[in-house]
Amino acid sequence: MCENAKILCPYCLTREIDPAQAICSACYSKEDKWERGSWDDLRKRKNADEIQMFTIAKKVDEAFQIPENEAYACIEKHEMIQAEALEREMEAFHRRRILCMVEIFSKIDCGVLFSGYVELDTYFKNVWDYAHQRIAAEQLREVQEYLRSQIPWKSLSSQRMDLGAELLNFWCGEDELDWGYSQYFEIAAGNLKPFLAMTLFTEILCKHFPDVMSAPVKRLSSKL
Ligand SMILES: [Zn+2]
Repeated sequence: MCENAKILCPYCLTREIDPAQAICSACYSKEDKWERGSWDDLRKRKNADEIQMFTIAKKVDEAFQIPENEAYACIEKHEMIQAEALEREMEAFHRRRILCMVEIFSKIDCGVLFSGYVELDTYFKNVWDYAHQRIAAEQLREVQEYLRSQIPWKSLSSQRMDLGAELLNFWCGEDELDWGYSQYFEIAAGNLKPFLAMTLFTEILCKHFPDVMSAPVKRLSSKL
């Protein structure tokens, strides 16, 4: 990569930055203390591809957190119809995330998780069907449990364990993913980083979320 190549800040889409800066100083200054710490840590990685991978992942996660926060606010105000509409919006967004991950996984050799040959095409086909609402979660759970039983967890490195967890759980809902439901791609980026080119992760994410990429980040604080 050319050292002087500038990019537009992915958050505001207006100011030019060095890719290793992640976001521009104006966007950075709008973040709270906790978030600033997280950007500081990211910048320390000193790898422009990796910094961009996480920045784009955080951007898509923030787009998901908008309806998520609005839904919580509606529930608190007992505006249940509005809250349900927002939850449907989140579920539709989550289905897009799952389909994006299916494509990312198509670039990764998950055979490294198993001691023998395990056929994964059916699993990914089922996940795809699930994301298109053609099969129920129960059907997918059976395949998931089978795969879980085939992974020799105790002999895996921690990186491979993370890959295994991502492979089994990326299509699950909030109950299983917990805080990973909000920070979905940031966590996926961390889990998958050793197993595929970081530029490829960024490229596939941008391809699946052109609407998010072409708009500046909406700040959560100004919405509530
Ligand atoms: Zn900016």
